[in-house]
Amino acid sequence: MNSDSRMQQRLRHEAGALLEQDKVDRIIGFEPGSLKFTTTPLITKIKDDLDRLVINPFIVNNLAVFLPGLKGRIAIVSKGCDSRSIVSLIQDNKVSRDDLVIIGIPCPGMIDLRKVEKLTGKDRDEMDDIIREGDKVVIREGIRDEGYGITPDPYPLTLEVSDVLFDNCLACEFPTPQDYDILLGEPVASRQSAAGESVESQESRVESRGEGDSRAKRLQSEASSERSVSGLQTINYRLLTRQQRWGFWRKEFRRCIRCYACRNICPSCFCKRCFVEESEPQWLMPVPRWQENLMFQVIRNIHLAGRCTDCGECERSCPMNIPLRSLTMEMYNLVGELFNFKAGMDKDAPPLMTHYEQEEAEDLIR
Ligand code: SF4
Ligand code: SF4
Ligand code: SF4
Repeated sequence: MNSDSRMQQRLRHEAGALLEQDKVDRIIGFEPGSLKFTTTPLITKIKDDLDRLVINPFIVNNLAVFLPGLKGRIAIVSKGCDSRSIVSLIQDNKVSRDDLVIIGIPCPGMIDLRKVEKLTGKDRDEMDDIIREGDKVVIREGIRDEGYGITPDPYPLTLEVSDVLFDNCLACEFPTPQDYDILLGEPVASRQSAAGESVESQESRVESRGEGDSRAKRLQSEASSERSVSGLQTINYRLLTRQQRWGFWRKEFRRCIRCYACRNICPSCFCKRCFVEESEPQWLMPVPRWQENLMFQVIRNIHLAGRCTDCGECERSCPMNIPLRSLTMEMYNLVGELFNFKAGMDKDAPPLMTHYEQEEAEDLIR
């Protein structure tokens, strides 16, 4: 039994006890999705449903997004990034901590299926199983059996887990929930990798090797060329010129269809009426033009300052594969540098955007 299975078993037990003892009205967790290697949120008050709860490398959704819309006492399954979103909602008075039982998952990272498909050259339908075992990911291949279904290959493929995690998971600072009532396993250490280093450490590493020019050139060419559908897509914009950044986003936001999936899936986008829906004044035309698409994301990012926990959901939800994390990470890093603030770390701290100190404001305005 691997650690996911152990946590899953304990989750079902703990969730059952919470419902049975009437400590909560609902459980929010994950159940298998209808597509292979996906999960979908499960919100239930029925004990028999708890057998459907799963923990596996595909529980990507940030379930905190449901909290402001639900009443009563709720037990919520929470990875490290989700727990910070929950704390951030508590800071913004959108949720009361007293109404929550946080069931924490010490999170080893989520698997990006597109990276697995790219590395193996296989489509998800050709894989029978993907299992995380420590620092390895074992893929059991399916072989077509003359039209009678798929049988497991006796020789499974093994990949390094660091090659197939989502970019934000590679960069994750706090994989163990910051606040929880029940922790389903042992705390896990932060997994920092080259893909997720802070901008400063990337820059200093580049400079110390004397590779600044070539690295910048490579990033610039990545930014100006067509991006591949999979693989690392977060761009370090501080190595690009302003004109290059402008050109890059102009091109990317031409593809935005303004579906608002990125907004709707984000736990920090909790306004009942979003500025994009205002008609007096009207901030944006409803037709998706690149200028207004960009403006939507810029304003959204300003509203997210001190709230975004880098859960990666906005980028994952984008049907046009726009690299939104490159924008959200820039804001995340700026908030850290300018205000020494990280979202969702302390439920008793005031939210960044509602807290004013004269000295810092003067510095900013000058
Ligand atoms: S960002 Fe961290 S806590 Fe969130 S899913 Fe990835 S590894 Fe887990
Ligand atoms: S999810 Fe993508 S396409 Fe939809 S509004 Fe956001 S950026 Fe645009
Ligand atoms: S902006 Fe994106 S990464 Fe940040 S909290 Fe919202 S969904 Fe998560």
